Amino acid sequence: MSSIFYHTQSSFAERIFSLLGKGRRHAALLYAHFMRKGSLEGFVVEPHARALVEEMIKAVDFGLPEMVLGKEEGGTVKFLMKVAGGLEVESVFIPMHSKGTLCISSQVGCKMGCTFCETGRMGLLKNLSVVEIVAQVFVAVHRLELTVDNIVFMGMGEPLDNFEAVMQAIDVLTDDAGLRFGPSRISVSTSGLVDQIDAMAERANPAVNLAVSVNAPTDEIRRRIMPVNHKWNMVELKGAMIRFCAHPRRQIFVEYVLLEGVNDSLECADLLAEYLRDLKVKVNLIPYNPQSRDRFAPPKAEVLEAFLMRMKAHGYLTFLRKTKGRKIMAACGQLGNLQLRRKKGKMLLSEKITQFAPY
Ligand code: SF4
Repeated sequence: MSSIFYHTQSSFAERIFSLLGKGRRHAALLYAHFMRKGSLEGFVVEPHARALVEEMIKAVDFGLPEMVLGKEEGGTVKFLMKVAGGLEVESVFIPMHSKGTLCISSQVGCKMGCTFCETGRMGLLKNLSVVEIVAQVFVAVHRLELTVDNIVFMGMGEPLDNFEAVMQAIDVLTDDAGLRFGPSRISVSTSGLVDQIDAMAERANPAVNLAVSVNAPTDEIRRRIMPVNHKWNMVELKGAMIRFCAHPRRQIFVEYVLLEGVNDSLECADLLAEYLRDLKVKVNLIPYNPQSRDRFAPPKAEVLEAFLMRMKAHGYLTFLRKTKGRKIMAACGQLGNLQLRRKKGKMLLSEKITQFAPY
């Protein structure tokens, strides 16, 4: 049975038409009502069309994956989604500067193996489906009633390694007739998959943001912490960033996790500034968050400050990303993964289990 969360309004109407041989107009109305209100309650239909709409409702799956609501800490809300195979994936809502950012996952685990990332240590366990990606947003908006201003694909996984599902999910999230998120309110992160950055430049709305986890100023350092650099080196990555920014509306967010003694020197800042020359970028510096079995340490406060000032002195719009809650949004990944690994599929953070009903 087809899930409504897989569809935009137009593809939903077509799906209904292909199933029932009629009903495009009512399917479109039903879709808009459900996606905007969060339930079928209050959907008014003319008496002559009631039987048709009931047929539609039976033909489509309105159900959501099971979610476990986590603790709220200082406005930060975490929730887990249960997916096939007893696996779980986490989403986090973070209130920042009077805006609410929802950080969602695209995979369970990740195969990119970045050495500073908990998710990378898990390996790839599963690509999330379009439905599982969209459901994270739908639940945040309609079940937890959070005001989501921005959506970032910076939870578990390398979003561009699950390319088709992520792109289709963005189509659903940005559908004007449905959840209505402006494309510029969505950011997709990547560890630097050059071919997929090119594919995204072709496929995605130009206003959708791209965040590239650069994390090093030279190939030598980047190879040590990001195995992806063996496949695509920094020259190739820069080429993809230049091509991506060829569209006048596009710019790139450069993510840089600072690891003490690895990539946090002023020389590294100078080399990074040189590397980014001629690109339309904003730079986000992220002090490393210590995790389990740590090989790395966070930078000292004065080193972090000096790095920030040096990047600004080079003329880059540079921000320091303060971590709010725990391990939030450090590059693409690192959401609650330590707990997920320890619990190995058991529930965590759970104060109550919420089986979200569709209506
Ligand atoms: S930082 Fe991102 S790409 Fe690298 S292992 Fe973690 S989730 Fe994967």
